[in-house]
Amino acid sequence: MPFKSLGLSISLLKPLKDQQFIKPTPIQETAIPAILANRDILGIAQTGSGKTAAYVLPLLTRLQRNAGEKNRYANVLVLVPTRELAEQVKTVFQTFSNPLAETIKTLAVYGGVSINPQMMAMQGINVLVATPGRLLELVAANAVHLSNIETLVLDEADKMLNLGFKDEVSKILSLLPAKRQNLLFSATLNKDVEQIHQILLQQPVVFQI
Ligand code: AMP
Repeated sequence: MPFKSLGLSISLLKPLKDQQFIKPTPIQETAIPAILANRDILGIAQTGSGKTAAYVLPLLTRLQRNAGEKNRYANVLVLVPTRELAEQVKTVFQTFSNPLAETIKTLAVYGGVSINPQMMAMQGINVLVATPGRLLELVAANAVHLSNIETLVLDEADKMLNLGFKDEVSKILSLLPAKRQNLLFSATLNKDVEQIHQILLQQPVVFQI
């Protein structure tokens, strides 16, 4: 099935071609229509499966459709375990939002670097990619507002829990609007991931690649 038939914004077709994404990967074929239909997702998928674009493309499509409604705060929150993954995910959002650059802005925040530039950059962003500890520091400093989050992505959830971010993740969940879409991606399905699945997801579309 070509990307064209998955319901994505037509402005994504050129960057898809530029990136030489000719055909969706299996995870993209399943996840893209489900995410566009506002479903929750549990994706058991390794790096290399195309899981990042599987959520970035439909979320950009939705952000672009809603771009007319001026929101002061981010609508999409992506939680990741490491700064490297935060930068990678941000780059994928930016690569595909290039033609939509005036409307869709992505920021990555993580620990180990100065917090001030992150606080200053928060204005007018649509997508926030964050590691859990730094996100909570920014919340404590009143520099980030989570009240407009419509979609939460937990990427590499197993790694996040293995690194000991369980309490931080629970605290962040308690700060998000109750009505939201939740996308959970993990390379493995262990007990901790199963537990967060039970707490987080409502009638998810489940797939394992
Ligand atoms: P990920 O699993 O998200 O880490 O992606 C792995 C790699 O596959 C990245 O370098 C992507 O740019 C690439 N990729 C993702 N989807 C596609 C696709 N449909 N066609 C070609 N390459 C892709």
